[in-house]
Amino acid sequence: MGKLDGRVVLITGAARGQGEQEARLFVREGARVVLADVLDDQGEALAKEIGARYVHLDVREEDDWRAAVAAAKEAYGRIDGLVNNAGILRFHELVDTPLDEFQQVVQVNQVGVFLGIRTVAPEIADAGGGTIVNTASYAGLTGMAGVGAYAATKHAIVGLTRVAALELAARGIRVNAVCPGAVDTAMSNPSQLDPDADPADSAATSRALDQLYRRLVPLGRIGRPEEVARLVLFLTGEDSSYITGQPFVIDGGWLAGVTVI
Ligand code: NAD
Repeated sequence: MGKLDGRVVLITGAARGQGEQEARLFVREGARVVLADVLDDQGEALAKEIGARYVHLDVREEDDWRAAVAAAKEAYGRIDGLVNNAGILRFHELVDTPLDEFQQVVQVNQVGVFLGIRTVAPEIADAGGGTIVNTASYAGLTGMAGVGAYAATKHAIVGLTRVAALELAARGIRVNAVCPGAVDTAMSNPSQLDPDADPADSAATSRALDQLYRRLVPLGRIGRPEEVARLVLFLTGEDSSYITGQPFVIDGGWLAGVTVI
């Protein structure tokens, strides 16, 4: 028996990275999964490979949300799980951050999660209850210089998670957040994505990141997207049946404190 047998779960930003690993794991655990992303070719190919359904969903767009829910219901009859995973990261000190960049990050990371909860929660309630997992970040619980817009949106996601948990409990919906530290995806190592990158440069970037996380993170390494997927599975399945409204840190101990010797 799978941990998600009979469940129908929509995952945003599922074409690659953590969302991809969540989709793969959820299908293995018996869920019928709807992958949503703006990377249509990658998303379609992954859905075909794992036996899932792909929908184009730009999380900033209300119409896309409505269409995605309609597609999920047409394919599987209902929807009883949502993973708000899509997100973007931009680097600037606050005083140098262009307004349109700040707003772009808010639109994807924060408005996207709001629209997801608002659109999908009534469907989950109609299905008799279920779960929402929002992807916040280590930077949703503490400061991180150089990523002010991102950190602001991730803090906002923790707040939205708590409010949604309070408002939706009576409708049978549990809402939690995951707060990953550094995870080895294109977001933390964009050179993985550049087709023109010299492989030697990419390898050098990866080695530099390894060195960085060895110093910063007590467990001495960057996290793997598969590890985050297992936490999201826990929060989506029955093993977390008495848990709602909480942010779950998965960061190799990074947030535990600083080392002074
Ligand atoms: P990633 O860049 O590989 O994946 C992000 C996905 O979101 C991509 O598939 C992308 O196409 C999609 N996306 C971007 N804008 C979108 C939009 N408008 N509509 C729909 N989809 C959109 O990175 P990842 O690490 O897999 O990121 C997943 C989540 O984890 C993000 O919310 C990110 O902020 C969060 N996170 C990542 C890290 C890390 O170190 N990688 C750490 C903490 C939190």
